[in-house]
Amino acid sequence: MEQAGRSVRCFEAGSDVGGTWYWNRYPGARCDVDSMEYSYDFDDELQQEWEWTERYATQPEILRYAQHVADRFGLRRHITFGVRVVSAVLDEAGGRWTVTTDDGATTTARFVVMATGCLSSANLPVIDGRDSFAGQLVHTGRWPHEGVDFEGKRVGIIGTGSSGIQAIPVIARTAGHLTVFQRTPQFTIPARNHPLDPVEQAAVKSRYAEFRAQNRRMPGAFGAKYERPAPKAVDVDDATFREEMEFLWQQGGPMFLSGFRDLMRDPAANQRAADFVRAKIAELVDDPETAARLTPDGFIGCKRLVVDTDYYVTYNRPNVTLVDVSDAGEPITRITPTGIQTGETHHELDILVFATGFDAMTGSLLRVDIQGRGGERLADTWAAGPVTYLGLGVSGFPNLFTVTGPGSPSVLANMVIATEQHVDWISDCIDYMETHGHDLIEAEPTAVAAWVAHVNSVADRTIFPSCNSWYLGANIPGKPRVFMPLPGFPAYVDRCTEVAANDYEGFRFERLAQR
Ligand code: NAP
Repeated sequence: MEQAGRSVRCFEAGSDVGGTWYWNRYPGARCDVDSMEYSYDFDDELQQEWEWTERYATQPEILRYAQHVADRFGLRRHITFGVRVVSAVLDEAGGRWTVTTDDGATTTARFVVMATGCLSSANLPVIDGRDSFAGQLVHTGRWPHEGVDFEGKRVGIIGTGSSGIQAIPVIARTAGHLTVFQRTPQFTIPARNHPLDPVEQAAVKSRYAEFRAQNRRMPGAFGAKYERPAPKAVDVDDATFREEMEFLWQQGGPMFLSGFRDLMRDPAANQRAADFVRAKIAELVDDPETAARLTPDGFIGCKRLVVDTDYYVTYNRPNVTLVDVSDAGEPITRITPTGIQTGETHHELDILVFATGFDAMTGSLLRVDIQGRGGERLADTWAAGPVTYLGLGVSGFPNLFTVTGPGSPSVLANMVIATEQHVDWISDCIDYMETHGHDLIEAEPTAVAAWVAHVNSVADRTIFPSCNSWYLGANIPGKPRVFMPLPGFPAYVDRCTEVAANDYEGFRFERLAQR
């Protein structure tokens, strides 16, 4: 935006850049997309000069990278840190948005770009007695900057999604005792992280443009280097199937389900892969009862596949206990000043970690009071679930864009690349409007309806809608159950390009009398 000579003001609740990688400082936090792919490709000098140290970068390394990018491109002067946007209200006649922050300041702008993140509103579940806990209570997504000292402490952790599964093995190494309160077990695959070989890194850099282009044609905009022939699981016998799954298990990482092209579509094929992992759990965990409790039902990959380092074997440590708090086990009845009560048992704790996730994709957008045409609130427009055109625009909210919004590939893709694609598209769109003398752009209601139907029909051809995932909003009580991201990055990008080439079909432009 700055390059195009526009004035930009960015508001950030944190005291620094980094977003996810600023807030999620819990032990073990790291990305599960390869570093050389989970990074910006808009500037070749940047990607040539930056040296990643591991296959999967740690949170501190990605935060340093974000800080480097902000410094290198002189971005900090455009950012007001330490403020939260509380409202964005449209003045229809003037075609201006007024943005108000929690320090009472207001800013007017022609365009508002909501880059509020998909996993940024921490979900701290209401559990009886929660606020009475007298020890230290922390959420993985709001981790204290000074860190947490687990040495010798009695630690409890609620939640076994990606955050909990990354944190548990690391906390277990220093805690006196770690009690894991698990409601639903999740499938997790070994990361097989390792230091990056300088020769391999140089090889990628020698053909970075081509490497990036290959990744952008992948379903999630990552993992091209791991691509293999992917027959249908139904077409191979058991020995061949197991051999391929074993290869993928040894390779590690989120491409685990890419060996067969029907795993996310065909329930029977999916169960073969799920059974493969279930057998691994039984092999890795010494105590059969604990192994059984850790073994998920349902489809693998329906909830986001987790990638871990030493997760299952952590339960072989004498200082780690797994408590099943599902309805079939011993649900948490209350949090007390000194611990957690489950059924007849009171678990004494010094530190309680909530790894309980986020109000995903819409949470941070709807915490801002966004008012469009006629004072209509986004929260009301989306009362039955988010409705967008391309995950970029909402009918009734002209000149408001959502970056990686619901209805775009978003969390099903490499977030850095998905963000770049949206920012480029929005920038080009604003250039187009200036060239053509348009003041407002707004998604047409018919285009929104058709897009929502498209997203649903794509999701319905997969196993995604079949479980209680945060992709569906199912983790937040009362949240409408709608599949929010769109599977398939390349087809989506092609559609965005086509829309722009066809004079932004599906959007309506307006020139205001009062400019
Ligand atoms: P999550 O996947 O939503 O997991 C939350 C966990 O908390 C679940 O196990 C959930 O159980 C449990 N939980 C929630 N409320 C509970 C309650 N009242 N009582 C007991 N248990 C409760 O959240 P997350 O682990 O923070 O991960 C969110 C997403 O962030 C990931 O899916 C991923 O996209 C991203 N992430 C990525 C990385 C990475 O790149 N490596 C790391 C961390 C996070 P139920 O399943 O029963 O609801």
